[in-house]
Formats: sequence, structure tokens, C-alpha cells
Amino acid sequence: MAYDEITALLGGWEGFELTQVRRELATEPDAVPRIVLELRSLPNYPKRCSRCGEVVVEIHDVTERRVRDLPILEAETWLVFPRARLHCPRCGPTVEAVPWLDRYQRMTTRLAAAIARLAQVLPIKQVAAWFGVAWETVKQIDQRSLERRLGPIDLSAVRVIAIDEFAIQRGHRYATTVVDVPTKRVLWVGRGRGREDLRAFFALLGPEGCRRLEAVVMDMSTAYFEEVRAQCPHVTLVYDLFHVVAKYGREVIDRVRVDETNRIARAAGPNDPATRARRRVIKGTRWLLLVVYVLKDDLKQLWRYRYPGAARRFWRAWYRRAMASRIPALRTFATNLAVRIDGVISHCRYPLHTGLLEGINNKIKVLKRMAYGFRDDAYFFLKIRAAFPGIQ
Ligand SMILES: [Zn+2]
Repeated sequence: MAYDEITALLGGWEGFELTQVRRELATEPDAVPRIVLELRSLPNYPKRCSRCGEVVVEIHDVTERRVRDLPILEAETWLVFPRARLHCPRCGPTVEAVPWLDRYQRMTTRLAAAIARLAQVLPIKQVAAWFGVAWETVKQIDQRSLERRLGPIDLSAVRVIAIDEFAIQRGHRYATTVVDVPTKRVLWVGRGRGREDLRAFFALLGPEGCRRLEAVVMDMSTAYFEEVRAQCPHVTLVYDLFHVVAKYGREVIDRVRVDETNRIARAAGPNDPATRARRRVIKGTRWLLLVVYVLKDDLKQLWRYRYPGAARRFWRAWYRRAMASRIPALRTFATNLAVRIDGVISHCRYPLHTGLLEGINNKIKVLKRMAYGFRDDAYFFLKIRAAFPGIQ
């Protein structure tokens, strides 16, 4: 096999051929071995301007470049090759176009592509360690590849969305996600969780997109409500199971637990903690907790209905039981939910995959842990969008 054929087969460095392979001795004892490949430019290969792509004859000078390529047999691989500076008749002084060099020209396109591929599944730190490149380099490559891959979002077919918030830093910074419900695709991620923060999404959706929108799934207790009403007064609001049950947990179960713990503590005698009065309180507490748990499980059933009439009948029965329980926290919860019950019943028409929002929330937590050191919201948001590309 001829030497240039081997070059083409193994390296594919268009316009160049391999002249030498050498091993560079490691300077530190545990350093990765290095292989240096020397390339020479093919004499008959035309040199093109890197700006306009035209063939340029006039060479200004030639400098030696050193760039990284994919590792060969676990050795860090470097290419050394001559890079010509040209005088382009159109653009003036430029460098020759090298088709296999990445945009930042410190490595080959295929090394950048391999880094981008690995960064999809591993934290930046590991990818950087694996390839022996800087953390910042991996981040830049990944961000660029995500921007190219995700591009500007197409909102032309969006009819049912879910809006949710998540904490970037609990208590400090929050962000909002908008998901296309039928495809489970994350459409948009923006900073903040306020009414005006969501406005940026509606600006992107445009007036026609707003008119096309049929239903919005969200949490009952968010600031998004006002903005959705203002932008799309016609849409049907849908409250999802995940948020309503979480609210029940906070406002009913947690409340009952705290109150009962205090009651038990109060009922304990100073010398004898197991008084008859205390035993009676504990027994009562067990009963109360049983009631609130049973009613929680039953409340979840409401999201299984597909016929609004049947859902309403089930709701009325649940409401009567909640009110009859005489548990103040439960009665308050039921009264508040009754005001917004249309938003629960509308779930019959716009069913949400159970666990969609919960799933997205969990995945965001994983991404946050993986990207230990995400200081850049724009990049973090791209990672979230990439994690939910939707059902194709
Ligand atoms: Zn040019």
C-alpha cells in the first residue's frame, strides 16, 4: 500500500500527507504518552483563501502549526504541519483554508466532534480529563455544538404547553421552562419565575402563536397565571397532578404532622411520658394521618378521568369527605381547590403524561449535579433543552 494511501485511510488530512511519526518522551512520570505526526502539504493541492474559498496562488509565508487530533492508541496525538499565509486578491492577507481544522483551530474538527459527543453524556470535568484539554475548551465546544444542533426553536405547531419553574440556586435564582406537552419537548428556558420573565416566551411565540395556543398546564400557585391570561385570554388552564399533590403534601400532610407532634408533646406528663392522655392523642393522630393519606390517594384518582361529568361527580364526593373530616388544613385546601376546580377538570380534555413535569424537574437536578460548576445560565439552559429534544 502506498504511503499517501495509508495517510488518506488513517488520517484523511486533506491537502497534506504524513511524513513522519515520532513519540515524544513524557516530561512527567505519569504523563500521557504523546505521538507527533508530521505532515507536509501536497505540492499539487491548490491553496484556498479561508475567507472567500477562492484558489490563491500568492503565498506570503509559511508557519509551523501544532494542533491536537484524536488520540491514537491512548497516546495524546499532535499534528505538526505547515500553514500558509496568503495574499488573496479579494480579501487581502488571509490564511489558507484547512478543511479538517476546527473553528478555533487548536484542534481537528473530529477531535472537537468527539468532545461534543462525550459531553452529551459526561460531566465537563471528566471529558476534559479524558482528552487532556481545558475545562473551558470542553464547555465552549459543547455549547457551540448544542447551539448548532438545537438552533432557533420552531413554535409554529405549538398548541398545548406546560409552564414550570425550577431553582438554579435555591432561594436565590430561579428559571422557567416551557414544554410542548404532546411531544415532551422543552421549547424554552428563561431566567426568573415572575410574570415578566415569561413574557419573553410569548414574544417569541408571537401574536399568531398566542392565538393558536389552546391550553396551558401549570401550577396553581405561580405568577405565570396573570401573564398567560393577559397574553392568551382564550386558553384553557390545566392544573397538573404533580403540583396539586405536592401542594396537598405541604399544606395538609405537613401541617397535620406538625400540629399533632406538638399536641403529643403537650399531652406528655412531666414525669410519666406514657400517660393515658398521651396514648389517646397518639391514637387520634394515627387516625388523622390515615384520613389525610387516604384522601391524598383518592385525590390523585381525579386525574384518571377522561369524562368531565364523571370527574365532577368524583370531585364533589371527595370535597364532601374533606369537609366532613373536620381537619382545618384539609378543609382549607378543599375550599381553595374548589375555586379552581375547572382547571383540574380541564385535564380530561388535555391530559398530561403523568410525571412529565416531575421527570423534567428530576432531570434538571441531575444536570445541575453533573455540571458542577455551571456558571453560565445560557449554557445550562441549552443542556436542559438538549435533554428533552421531544418525541420525533
Ligand atoms: Zn479571499
